[in-house]
Amino acid sequence: MIPQEIEGSSAQAVLAWAAETFDPRFALVTSFAAEGVVLIDMLTKIHSRPRVLTIDTGRLPAETYALIEAIRERYGLTVEVLFPQTEAVEVMTREHGVNLFYRSVEARKFCCDVRKVEPLGRALVGLDAWITGLRREQAITRGDVGKVELDDDHGGIAKVNPLADWSWDQVWSYVRAHELPYNALHDRGYPSIGCAPCTRAVEPDEDIRAGRWWWEQDGAAKECGLHRKGRHA
Ligand code: SF4
Repeated sequence: MIPQEIEGSSAQAVLAWAAETFDPRFALVTSFAAEGVVLIDMLTKIHSRPRVLTIDTGRLPAETYALIEAIRERYGLTVEVLFPQTEAVEVMTREHGVNLFYRSVEARKFCCDVRKVEPLGRALVGLDAWITGLRREQAITRGDVGKVELDDDHGGIAKVNPLADWSWDQVWSYVRAHELPYNALHDRGYPSIGCAPCTRAVEPDEDIRAGRWWWEQDGAAKECGLHRKGRHA
């Protein structure tokens, strides 16, 4: 049962509730952006062996792999790395090329489906909850993200977003205060980091997701399918 007061609870309290409620059938799923690092730090303080999952699409920047290693060392964590299905990637690239995403929104979403959405679906099988670093401020598509939602795309399990009401400044205050490792691309103008060919740095006055699929004009389409709208719990 989801407590009424969860929306007004701190990130640490939401995480503690999730760990107590769903252990051992929950996991943090992260792309190792700054939000994910914050959540790893918080979670390791309340749980001795949290499950941390990430998806290696095969197109990640080198800086993300470096950060995964830094996190493994700092926390002694096992990071479970999920990969897309080899055959699906082979068929897709044979038929549409390795850089199909630049051709159309549909082609880009197809690539995201093969490289991200399908592995995520496999990762969540058997879980009752997953924890994400979604924040309302990240995108117009995320403006009403709840701290706990029901994820109908994945069997109605709980989707826990402890940082839903955090600002970008709060994330960085936490990273600095706790001297956390972070993706080196953040220092080069990348607020949001995904696959290397689909992410670029942004100008200071640009939206924080402007660098994701920057060639696409429709801001509302700038999601990869990992985070479709959840149902408020
Ligand atoms: Fe493919 Fe780009 Fe999506 Fe990564 S972000 S899965 S490379 S379309």
